[in-house]
Amino acid sequence: MPRGVVPRQPARSGRQDKVRAARVLPRTEAAERRKNAARGASRGSAIGRSEPAPKGRKKTVGASKAAPAKGYNPLAPERIAEILQRLDQLYPNVTCALTHSTAWELLVSTILSAQSTDVNVNRVTPELFRKYPTVEAFAALTPEQLEPDVRSTGFFRNKSKSVVGAAKKIVSDFAGRVPDDMERLLTLPGVARKTANVVLGTWFKKAEGVVVDTHVQRISRRLELTAESDPQKIEQDLMRVIPREKWILFSHQIIWHGRKLCIARKPKCAECALENICHAGDKTWSTVEMHKEAKA
Ligand code: SF4
Repeated sequence: MPRGVVPRQPARSGRQDKVRAARVLPRTEAAERRKNAARGASRGSAIGRSEPAPKGRKKTVGASKAAPAKGYNPLAPERIAEILQRLDQLYPNVTCALTHSTAWELLVSTILSAQSTDVNVNRVTPELFRKYPTVEAFAALTPEQLEPDVRSTGFFRNKSKSVVGAAKKIVSDFAGRVPDDMERLLTLPGVARKTANVVLGTWFKKAEGVVVDTHVQRISRRLELTAESDPQKIEQDLMRVIPREKWILFSHQIIWHGRKLCIARKPKCAECALENICHAGDKTWSTVEMHKEAKA
């Protein structure tokens, strides 16, 4: 190599390597995967490989944005139906993974789950609810008294304030019962739409909105169901494209998908049943064109 010429280095993210690795799969394996993908597409999807996005497509895939590019519409009803059908097959009866036996316990667990994992929260709550078995018991505390009990879930000072504040308001304004409508739930300290949607959907079986947590946020963008990054706008987009009767289950399914396969850093695309209708720009393996703008 001539002097002064620096050899090309792989990207620090390793993403190029992953994409390249995907492209140089052994011939037999690649052929097998292509065959399977084609089979999947012909099983009813009009999407998949036959409808790649035209080059230079603008970032207009969100339901609230301009019309999608000609020839490929990520929001086409048949594509949405195909996604929902595959999710039903993958995750038929999933529900909230937070352990709870009352609406109040679910509310507390959801508040504690912010910036934490459900597993972590489930480690803390059995002892917490044994120690303080009712909403009145929580309402009698000061936030400082609760802090040691929820410390391991992170952000424990804010969470203690929210839980104790919510308990006091429920006791004083709602006769000790967790409200079952969005408007009143949103008056509780520490409760925004995500938490309210979890309680309404999982406990009260009311589809008032779509739960948008970190998994739903990431995967909705990868699947080009939205181009937004603000959770409230993502929820509005999802409410437009997902049929209302699917709102509750869809959130749970996407959350499970995010835990099992469509993980943040290295999604397991080669194992994913949505692969041939997913064009995410950060896929680790692909049989279809990837769209730069469809990223987590
Ligand atoms: S193919 Fe990959 S990026 Fe797309 S949904 Fe599946 S795991 Fe996620």
